[in-house]
Amino acid sequence: MSRGLRLRCPKCGQTPIFRGWFSMDERCAECGRRFNRAPGYLLGSIYINYGLTALLVVVAYFSLYFGEVLSSDQLLVVLTAFILVFPLWFFRYARSLWIAFDERWDPWPNEEERRREER
Ligand SMILES: [Zn+2]
Repeated sequence: MSRGLRLRCPKCGQTPIFRGWFSMDERCAECGRRFNRAPGYLLGSIYINYGLTALLVVVAYFSLYFGEVLSSDQLLVVLTAFILVFPLWFFRYARSLWIAFDERWDPWPNEEERRREER
């Protein structure tokens, strides 16, 4: 998971997963681990991104509302800005954490991928 937080290949930790803010390499240049294993594979990262964003907004809303730090209108503006900006910033981390989580529970290559790579 620390490799995931550092946006590195979850298998070897040697190469970065991303080339730019949103563009991802197809596979690791060092160990050959595919970062996008199958169509729809990266969908899991959306759950991480959405879940953390929703959790932070709920905690911030109740803390700031009942702490009487901001008015309702100010809270609406601040949290709306947050839900627009945070998921974009967190996009790479969500993907990287998803790939690392998957590598932990289903290491690459699994049997099916091994057969596919041999062809
Ligand atoms: Zn690697």
